[in-house]
Amino acid sequence: MPDDIQAAHALISDDDSVDQIRDAVRALCAKFPGEYWREVDRDRRYPLDFVNAMTEAGYLGVLIPEAFGGSGLGISVACAILEEVHASGGNASALHAQMYTMGTVLRHGSAAQKDQWLPKIATGELRLQAFGVTEPTAGTDTTSIATTAIRKGDRYVINGQKVWTSRAEYSDLMVLLARTTPKDKVAKKSEGLSVFLLDMREAVGKGLTIKPIRTMINHSTTEVFFDNLEIPASCLIGEEGKGFRYILDGMNAERILISSECIGDARWFVDTATAYARERVVFGRPIGQNQGVAFPIARAYAGYKAARLMTYQAAALYDAGKPCGEEANTAKLLASEASWAAADTCLQTHGGFGFAEEYDVERKFRETRLYQVAPISTNLILSYLSEHVLGLPRSY
Ligand SMILES: Cc1cc2nc3c(=O)[nH]c(=O)nc-3n(C[C@H](O)[C@H](O)[C@H](O)COP(=O)(O)OP(=O)(O)OC[C@H]3O[C@@H](n4cnc5c(N)ncnc54)[C@H](O)[C@@H]3O)c2cc1C
Repeated sequence: MPDDIQAAHALISDDDSVDQIRDAVRALCAKFPGEYWREVDRDRRYPLDFVNAMTEAGYLGVLIPEAFGGSGLGISVACAILEEVHASGGNASALHAQMYTMGTVLRHGSAAQKDQWLPKIATGELRLQAFGVTEPTAGTDTTSIATTAIRKGDRYVINGQKVWTSRAEYSDLMVLLARTTPKDKVAKKSEGLSVFLLDMREAVGKGLTIKPIRTMINHSTTEVFFDNLEIPASCLIGEEGKGFRYILDGMNAERILISSECIGDARWFVDTATAYARERVVFGRPIGQNQGVAFPIARAYAGYKAARLMTYQAAALYDAGKPCGEEANTAKLLASEASWAAADTCLQTHGGFGFAEEYDVERKFRETRLYQVAPISTNLILSYLSEHVLGLPRSY
């Protein structure tokens, strides 16, 4: 068996330390039951108590090296944490953002930037949960973003707009992508984009405006406007003009982590549907005795188990420092489809009660739909596989 697959298998079966972490996460999540998530969802409230509890337990610093105050563990462990949160009925969007957004600083930041920011991100003293890439006009075509950062002496002046910048109101820092050289002045459109680490505490009201967007899920997402916002030149991460590459470098990690959330959701849907199908009696028999009810649940189970293997393989490759674009993209595709199939089955199994808020099915159903659109839509994943794995002609 190749090393990477072996590593993935070891992780699934007998890694005691990861199992212990899973148990501990489940125990913590038990303190945040359905009622908690229903309430924050109803009020569209940031799940502050939950985020604080997870931060204090040290889970959000798992990917930060020990030298900067984190646990220095791999993405496989981060995946296990996120999967358990979702399988417990919760939602980990704020957690994954804090876990991996710092990767841009870790990989491409200067020694001084790492020393300044990473220890505080590791302890949770500072929240880095905002990632400003998407813009209303450019959409998925990231190299067409219109937000500019123009160098003036020891400052950059930022103008433009972002959309769907989640948690901007609850984050101290933001990783921002902006154009530093106009598109018509670079050889390749992917050049001339730069990444900044923005301290929003100093920027709000001085050229930075944040407006919440109300959405079908509780995601604290926003529109962000930059109007001659001046930031120190020291906010630039890495080299000016290389930012698109830096953002791409974080994509595999993000896809693997999102896959784990999808798998956690799928587990929750399958477990919840199974329990209900055993207990709900109609026509004098448990509904799960009808194969028309049981088989879709069994199919949803098989679907997420397969996606889980692919996710573990992608995580094992990532942790071994090997290329994993194919596996990370495949995992994200399969896991997001598995969670959505499980959601649909769980809702159908519950009949009318699936629509009642107190069962949490409708909330999880809404939440898990996101993953086929964000952080990257299914078509773009298929496009990656078509072009980069199958060698088909580029479509855009
Ligand atoms: C709740 C939520 C939270 C988000 N959080 C963040 C965040 O924190 N930071 C951030 O930067 N962004 C965030 N996003 C944005 C998210 O990453 C984008 O919505 C997503 O990448 C899709 O981009 P778009 O909405 O602009 O769709 P568009 O690019 O307008 O695409 C619309 C549809 O057309 C399809 N399409 C477009 N081009 C092609 C093509 N060439 N071939 C085939 N199909 C195509 C897409 O697949 C999609 O289904 C968030 C979005 C949501 C909804």
